[in-house]
Amino acid sequence: MPEEKSLLTDVLIIGCGIAGASAALKAAKSGLKVVVITKNAKPEESNTYYAQGGIVSLGYDDHPELLKEDIMESGDGINNPAAVELLSTEGKKEVDEILIKELRIPFSRSSPDSLDYAQEAGHSRRRILHVQDTTGKTIEERFIDRLKAEPNVTLLADHRAVDLLTVPHHSKNPVFYYKEPQCIGAYVLDNQTNLVKRIFASYTILATGGCGAVYLYTSNPRGAIGDGYAMAYRGGARIVNMEYIQFHPTSLFHRDADGFLISETVRGEGARLKTRGGRTFMENYNEKKELAPRDEVTRAIYEEMTNSNSAYVLLDLVSYAKFDIKKRFPNIYKTCLKYGIDITKEPIPVVPAAHYSCGGVLVDEWGRSSLNNLYAVGEVSCTGLHGANRLASTSLLEGLVWGTRAGKHIADNFDPIVSYDASEIHKWYYPEKEEEVDPALINQDWISIRSTMWNYAGIIRTQKRLERAKADLDYLHHRIMKFYKEARMDAKVVDLKHGIQVALLITNAALSNPVSHGAHYLKN
Ligand SMILES: Cc1cc2nc3c(=O)[nH]c(=O)nc-3n(C[C@H](O)[C@H](O)[C@H](O)COP(=O)(O)OP(=O)(O)OC[C@H]3O[C@@H](n4cnc5c(N)ncnc54)[C@H](O)[C@@H]3O)c2cc1C
Repeated sequence: MPEEKSLLTDVLIIGCGIAGASAALKAAKSGLKVVVITKNAKPEESNTYYAQGGIVSLGYDDHPELLKEDIMESGDGINNPAAVELLSTEGKKEVDEILIKELRIPFSRSSPDSLDYAQEAGHSRRRILHVQDTTGKTIEERFIDRLKAEPNVTLLADHRAVDLLTVPHHSKNPVFYYKEPQCIGAYVLDNQTNLVKRIFASYTILATGGCGAVYLYTSNPRGAIGDGYAMAYRGGARIVNMEYIQFHPTSLFHRDADGFLISETVRGEGARLKTRGGRTFMENYNEKKELAPRDEVTRAIYEEMTNSNSAYVLLDLVSYAKFDIKKRFPNIYKTCLKYGIDITKEPIPVVPAAHYSCGGVLVDEWGRSSLNNLYAVGEVSCTGLHGANRLASTSLLEGLVWGTRAGKHIADNFDPIVSYDASEIHKWYYPEKEEEVDPALINQDWISIRSTMWNYAGIIRTQKRLERAKADLDYLHHRIMKFYKEARMDAKVVDLKHGIQVALLITNAALSNPVSHGAHYLKN
């Protein structure tokens, strides 16, 4: 099997959501050659694109100390104080400089002279900047346009990282075993040719986003299967806090809606949760009612659904809105209407959905992982900012801040890799007799992974459920690895290998943490 020509670059960035794009922009503007890859044919496709609510900044009567307190409270006290301090003090500056001045994001305004700061659950102040309810789409499109115009950036769409290239692991030279392990790029599948090339890089940044799509119900696009966690784990980087999977309380309940999110700001703007019989219930769970931290709202909904044997609850905006719903939530209005629900006239049926991973590849304040020359930024990383539970709208800002910092750190400390020779690094291995991939097998494996995760490692966990999940997933892992070794290389096979690894990472982390905190909730 021929190998596609390998590439050599200063920085390889895997993923171009807000985190990867911020890192790319910073590194490229500092003069480094940057290759950015994304597994999607459309470079905009990412979790970032679907973010609706907005990005945290500091409101008019606000202060970094207040933001810090809110993040810590939401994180259930196990946040990394240094990361919380950094985001609270530096975040607004990056929003102003990169998003407002450089990318000219047209954030919504309450008057021609004033930005409109929205309220969201868990925030003690109105501090969320938004572009109506399509904030992520606007940010992502502008970033991609900017990267396309940047001469130091090569953007390769439809290129999927299969594994990190590490020495000594991928080296033919036994002498490398005496050196510290190091990341030197990645094996990358060209989705069009199904050939794997080696991209060598002095520095590699993982910016692959989260893993909501290993669950049956998720707000994430189906591609968000946590590729970066799986690759970093196999490459030997430290991964922490994977048990803290945040479930969004309110995704649209409709057969065809594919987890469409009803943003937290809808509750922030006064909407109330009700049973199908029309009874409000949040007051029975938390004095902040609908504005309680999202893990508590999620469990309350789950409980009400279980008690009433109902597949959904209702989110009533129309009875409480004192504004023009169509203007404030145009995207949510339009999308719900597409599914036959007019939110200006009736409540919205909602269910919880896997939404955000608070854990990930452990990094420091510059995005450096425990593996030399590997950085991780955005949702794939764990800075410790979110602790056990993310405060709404802080993740876009975390991606922006750490992405920019990683780009800067690499540029300030740039040291080209000299310690290897490409001919000493293994090319991708193709089995002699490749087996045709049977899509029925792949589909069934995904159904097994997703329903196991939803039922046994989901919103409410028990020791027994988790043990069962581990046993089932271990067996599936064994089957998939056998199949992977013999199968013809393609995108679906790579995704399945990443997905089963991620499901096991979450389950094993949940099993080894017997204490309920934030998004990790264990029932006896
Ligand atoms: C519906 C929804 C609404 C949200 N609303 C908000 C909000 O209002 N405010 C907020 O702060 N956060 C919100 N979030 C969370 C937030 O959007 C994400 O946490 C954030 O966008 C993650 O950014 P990222 O750059 O880390 O990853 P992403 O934006 O997910 O980007 C990941 C990138 O990695 C690429 N990739 C993945 N695997 C591979 C691979 N193997 N090879 C090559 N490329 C790969 C993808 O193609 C993509 O380019 C929301 C999330 C969702 C799903």
